Amino acid sequence: MYYKEKSYLGGLADGIKSVAVGLKTTMRELFVKKITQQYPENRKELVMFDRFRGSLTMPHNEKNEHKCVACGICQNACPNGTINVVSEMVEEDGKKKKRLVRYEYNLGSCIFCNLCVTSCPHGAIEFDQSFENAVFDRSKLILQLNKPGSKVAEKAKPQLTPEMQAKIEAAKAAKAAKEAAGAAPAEGAAAPAAKPAKQFSPEMQAKIEAAKARKAAKEAAESAPVAEKPAAPASKFSPEMQAKIEAAKARKAAKEAAAKAGTEAAAPADGKVEDVKPEETK
Ligand code: SF4
Ligand code: SF4
Repeated sequence: MYYKEKSYLGGLADGIKSVAVGLKTTMRELFVKKITQQYPENRKELVMFDRFRGSLTMPHNEKNEHKCVACGICQNACPNGTINVVSEMVEEDGKKKKRLVRYEYNLGSCIFCNLCVTSCPHGAIEFDQSFENAVFDRSKLILQLNKPGSKVAEKAKPQLTPEMQAKIEAAKAAKAAKEAAGAAPAEGAAAPAAKPAKQFSPEMQAKIEAAKARKAAKEAAESAPVAEKPAAPASKFSPEMQAKIEAAKARKAAKEAAAKAGTEAAAPADGKVEDVKPEETK
C-alpha cells in the first residue's frame, strides 16, 4: 500500500486537528439532554426505542383470531431452530386445509434477528418490547404464541378506495361499449358507416371523400373500354392493310364454300346407293 510520509510540521498539524475534532464531540455531548434510564425506578414510565426487539408475539384480535396459516415459512427462516409450528389438516367446505395447533417459540435460543417476522407472508408475528424475561427454569422460556381456542381470521375482502372504484366502473363501461360496438355490425350496416365520420377531422374527412371520388372515377374508366372493345381493332390497321385482311377473309370464305360444295356433290351418289339397296334386295 502506498504511504506518503509527511513532514514533521504536517504531522503535527494533523494531530492537532484530530484532537480538536474529538474535543468538539465531547463538548457537544456535555450540553445535550441526558438519556440515562433510572431503571428499575422508572419501570412505569420506561419507554423503549421502536427498534428494540423484546420477545416474539402473535397478535390476536378481539375475536381471539390470529393471522397464522401454519405455512412454516418462519420456522424454515429461523437460523436457530427457535420456532416449532405444529399443524393439522382439517376439511372445510369439501377442501382440505392446514390449521395451526401450536406455535412454539423458544425465547432462550432466539437471537432476535427478526428473520421470522420479515419472512412471514401474512404479518402474523411481531416483536414486542418486553425485556424482563428472567426465569429460574429454562423450560419456561418455551412459549406458546397462539392463545388457547384461537383460530385463523377469515380473509377480509380488500377495501377499495373511491378512485379505485371509479376506475373499475370506467373499465366496466368501456368493456360494455366495446362489446356493443362489436355486436352492432351483425344487427345492421348503418351504424358502422356513421362511426368514421366522427373520428376524423374535417380536413381528413375531405381527403377521404376525395380519395373515394378518385377511386369511383378510376373504376368507371376501367369499365368503359370494355363496352367499346369491338370497335378498337378497326382503328389498329391502315386502310390498305384492312383491305388485304378483308380480301384474305373473302378468299378463305370462298375456299370453305368450294370445299363444302364438293362434299355435298359427292354425298347424293352414296345416298342413291343406300336408297337403291332395299329395292335390289326386294
Ligand atoms: S407465523 Fe407466518 S410464516 Fe410462520 S407459520 Fe404462521 S403464517 Fe407462516
Ligand atoms: S428472531 Fe431470529 S432467532 Fe428469533 S425466532 Fe425469529 S428467526 Fe429465529
